[in-house]
Amino acid sequence: MTYEKIVVPTEGQKITVQNEKLNVPDNPILAFIEGDGIGYDITTASKRIWDAAVQSAYGGQRKISWMEIYSGEKAAQLYNGDYMPAETFEAMREFIVGIKGPLTTPIGGGFRSLNVTLRQVLDLYACVRPVRWYEGIPSPVKRPQDLNMVIFRENTEDVYAGIEYESGTPENEKLAKFLREELGAKFFEGAGLGIKPISAFATKRLVSKAIQYALAEGFDTVTLVHKGNIQKFTEGAFRKWGYEVAKEKFADVTITEDELWSQFKGKRPSGKVVINDRIADIIFQHTLLRPTEFGILATPNLNGDYLSDALAAQVGGLGIAPGANIGNYVALFEATHGTAPKYTNLDKVNPGSLLFSGAMMLEYIGWREAATKIYRAFEKTVSQKIVTYDFARQMEGATEVKTSEFANAVIQNL
Ligand code: NAP
Repeated sequence: MTYEKIVVPTEGQKITVQNEKLNVPDNPILAFIEGDGIGYDITTASKRIWDAAVQSAYGGQRKISWMEIYSGEKAAQLYNGDYMPAETFEAMREFIVGIKGPLTTPIGGGFRSLNVTLRQVLDLYACVRPVRWYEGIPSPVKRPQDLNMVIFRENTEDVYAGIEYESGTPENEKLAKFLREELGAKFFEGAGLGIKPISAFATKRLVSKAIQYALAEGFDTVTLVHKGNIQKFTEGAFRKWGYEVAKEKFADVTITEDELWSQFKGKRPSGKVVINDRIADIIFQHTLLRPTEFGILATPNLNGDYLSDALAAQVGGLGIAPGANIGNYVALFEATHGTAPKYTNLDKVNPGSLLFSGAMMLEYIGWREAATKIYRAFEKTVSQKIVTYDFARQMEGATEVKTSEFANAVIQNL
């Protein structure tokens, strides 16, 4: 494939898929989107750390070849006002693994969120958010170390389907009439209307991914988070299809919570992942009061949205929460915060969210040693109280440093 503006590095090889597995060369080409606002600062700092961690872990045996691809304001400048050039999608399909900084969604002019567009066009159906605490990071709870969860949030339906009809429009009135007259539905005059599709197809591929991850990463449980007591045929169906796919595809390596008690007296047999479910409201209380009981949480879109931010707050906030959007193989890792425009080019903000997303990316391609080095070096730097402004204002006796200086300190500690 030839590209108009994207320069494919001459050094390095493509990651490919073989026998349903990623085949990662020692010198893979990884794509990156710099991002708007603080994107330049955090991407520059993080790339230095990722490269240094790979060097430190593999002593020159392995090396990343970075390939810049474009979206957001930088794309608009390069591609004549196009914020989301088609070749960005092509490059992600061809090179499979990439990472992105935050993107501004232009206000007005009928733009959809660039982030949502990327997920939908590339069919990145699982939004994956690991949440765990790192030594030294300020947290509002007593035992943040007890929390170690990964949220698998469905990325393509539920509220992300975007099927809504504004009150007073002909479409709304047509739908309201159909619902009342044909289906006997009752609701107030002039109500805005939205449709919440949840399918077996999307639920099963999401829950499958969550179970595969639990097995690969040694988690004991996969919890289906739903509001099925109220919305039986959408949220309740998510629960039902979640259990179904566990039986259909993972019968030999999973058991349900009922089976755990009826057959194993509550003691999980080794090698088995327990599949259970919890109602969406109670899960907030449970994850706060009994976090050790949970591992992987698989959720429809909206539940996962709230839960991701609430859990991130328990371990130090969104500024350092990593994330990824993953499809069948294509994976785009991303900072979970926005562009924080007031800090643009001030070399001030915390690169943690993007940095950890990159560590997830290294884990995804199987370079765990490098990822572990990043986590350890970050922890060490924070415990030395060398931090960016956001942590400095929550820590006594901290030395506040710039983004680039923080990167220097992490590299020193690798
Ligand atoms: P935001 O950019 O996340 O910033 C909100 C606040 O969060 C900042 O003012 C700052 O808090 C803190 N913050 C964010 N990133 C930080 C970092 N790396 N280090 C330290 N603190 C950080 O949210 P927003 O202001 O609502 O959104 C701004 C733009 O970002 C919008 O155009 C929005 O569409 C876009 N956005 C993009 C994404 C994405 O690309 N994934 C996600 C969300 C929003 P203090 O002011 O307290 O210092």
